Amino acid sequence: MDLNRFARRRYSDGPTPIEPLPRFSSALAASCPGGVGPEVWVKRDDLLGLSPGGNKTRKLEFLVADALAQGADTLITCGAPQSNHCRITLSAAIREGLSCRFVIEERVPGSYSDEANGNHFLFRLMGVESISVVPAGTDMAAAMQKEADTLASQGRKAYVIPGGGSNALGSLGYVSCAMELQQQMLDAGMHFDALVVGSGSSGTHAGLLAGFEALGMDLPIIGIGVSRDPAQQAPIVLDLARQVCSLIGVDAGRLQERLHCVGGFWQPKYSVPNRRMVEAVHMLARTEALLLDPVYTGKIMAGLIGLARESRWSAGQRILFLHTGGMPSLFWNPAPLLGTAELAP
Ligand SMILES: *Cc1c(COP(=O)(O)O)cnc(C)c1O
Repeated sequence: MDLNRFARRRYSDGPTPIEPLPRFSSALAASCPGGVGPEVWVKRDDLLGLSPGGNKTRKLEFLVADALAQGADTLITCGAPQSNHCRITLSAAIREGLSCRFVIEERVPGSYSDEANGNHFLFRLMGVESISVVPAGTDMAAAMQKEADTLASQGRKAYVIPGGGSNALGSLGYVSCAMELQQQMLDAGMHFDALVVGSGSSGTHAGLLAGFEALGMDLPIIGIGVSRDPAQQAPIVLDLARQVCSLIGVDAGRLQERLHCVGGFWQPKYSVPNRRMVEAVHMLARTEALLLDPVYTGKIMAGLIGLARESRWSAGQRILFLHTGGMPSLFWNPAPLLGTAELAP
């Protein structure tokens, strides 16, 4: 495998840190059966570039390089009203001197407000060229293509980036993260027993899975669903991981047996708070001053906590949590995090 044949822009300096979470690990163990739990570490992909960065930064390094190679003057992408992906795409567009437009899917009816804080405020602060809001269930690819066609009729050239930047090309960002992680573990003589990641539009999960396959890394990857349970999520991850393997010329033979999807932590709905998310956000903020977010990393960490309490790991095992970013959405809706809203379990 050689990623050097793919054009890439760089938006971060060097590898993201891997840090221990000793105070969180003790608090977690104290809440596990028999008072024993795993040692938890974090890989800080929340410190990636295009600050405040996140997992979309890695995907956009390949996608924006492709847009520039095609002579695009505008990036069009899509997401939910508090999309981190839209915000980071806008940051990349600004850095490259490109225009940027969003098609926003109002997945929870009534959830879009032009006055909203969090990521939406940053869309406006950074001067997005346009936002069109469409109802849940809209064909987003078609809606973005329509926008691209309108621009073409004005003599402009748009490059359409799918939701979450999750096609095979964007997922190369997480193939390169697999290479980075392998090198860091080698250099520091570090060993982990599992890597816990979020699984949404799935470029992160699928890119890592394909990268581990290419590199012969045996570390199990546990994907915590943020919008679907395993029966729906696993086929999406597997299909994308196969496309990534084909793009990089790697045998996809063992992907299926190495795929682990976990559900049950995202309910009642994508982006809607629940009590376990609030507990996870509080625990990390109060034991490590590590900020998670309510839509993704809070629910993903709730999954790690839940698995530890089901005694999934034995004492002394080391778990690496991938922090994928998302902090601006903490400022979108503070009430659940302050304990002043009714919540689903
Ligand atoms: C998009 C996102 C995810 C999910 O990653 P996918 O590659 O879409 O599965 C996780 N965490 C944060 C903070 C995100 O913005």
